[in-house]
Order: sequence, then C-alpha cells, then structure tokens
Amino acid sequence: MGVLTLKEYKKKRNFKLTPEPKQSKTSSKYKNIFVIQKHDATNLHYDFRIEIDGVLASWAVPKGPSTDPKEKRLAIRTENHPLQYADFEGIIPAKQYGGGTVIVWDKGKYKNQRNIKMSKALKEGKIEIWLKGKKIKGGYNLIRTSKNKQGKERWLLMKADDKKADARRNPISTQPKSVKSNKTIKQIRKEYEQSSRKSK
Ligand code: MN
Repeated sequence: MGVLTLKEYKKKRNFKLTPEPKQSKTSSKYKNIFVIQKHDATNLHYDFRIEIDGVLASWAVPKGPSTDPKEKRLAIRTENHPLQYADFEGIIPAKQYGGGTVIVWDKGKYKNQRNIKMSKALKEGKIEIWLKGKKIKGGYNLIRTSKNKQGKERWLLMKADDKKADARRNPISTQPKSVKSNKTIKQIRKEYEQSSRKSK
C-alpha cells in the first residue's frame, strides 16, 4: 500500500527509442534530491521532481517556480520518474509522448519541513520543503487543490515567505542555462542536430 512505483513511467516509454533512464538504481547520491528540468516539448514547462522513497515524485509546472511568495504556480502531478532522471539532459524523440529537449535547470538537496514522512505528506497533498539549489533556495510549499476522475492532480507550488523570498528575482528568465552543462535548450538542440547530420 502506498508504494511509489515506476509502472506508469515504463508504460509510457519505448526504451529502444528514448535515451531516458529505465529504472531507479538506488544510490545515496540521490537521497533527498530535488531537480527542476526545463522541458521544451509541445508546450514549454518545468518539471519539478523530488526524491521520495527511491523515486522522483514529479509535477509539470508550466510557468516554473517563482521566488515571490505572492505568486502561486500551477503544478500538475505527473508519473514518478527514476532517480537517474535527475541527471538526464538531452533530446527525447518526437514520437515519445510529445518528445522535446530537456536541460537540468536546477538541482540540489531538500529538507522535509514537516514532522511526517514525505510519502505521507505527498498522500495528504501538503508538502513543505526547504530547497538548496543553485537558483532556487528556501522554503517551498506544494498544496494539492483538486483531483479529477482520471486521477489527474492539480497542485500549487508556492514560495514560502522567508529570508530567501525575493519578489524582484526572476531566475526563470535571467538564469536560463543548465546547471549541469551550462548550456541553453537551444544549444543542446543545435548540437544534437549537427551531430545527427554528421552521422548520416
Ligand atoms: Mn516534461
């Protein structure tokens, strides 16, 4: 009961076509990790993922996280991803559920701010965490607001009002590069197109 699985993740993908990782290999390096991936697919969005019980619980955030406590950002819960996904950057073929280009926009460790297990907080629909990323820092709250018949969960991602809050910052637009490769989505896409031309 309540075990977080990768069933839906695997069902959605053909691993002969996509370079995405297939499963979680437990490694202490991923414990309490969070990652925010910028994903240029049919619609540009940011995938917010946090490690809970050996997988990455995930949300698609169309506008990305804000550093302003007054800004509420819609976050749609998506399928759990393997831990190794936290390092994934590259091209997903178009035929794979929308495809697109992915960069590791921010990454770091998080701390649970509540006195209950993260798996329970996830189930309850109320997560309070402290993020230690390169761009995103401080307290963030994720609150579930609704769940439809198909099981789609709508949440809100909000900056907590603490010393790391800053309404003037806007890292989404001022810090677009990957914290892994220091490249933009555009550069990753361009390099891929150049190398696939060469191999033809
Ligand atoms: Mn995505």
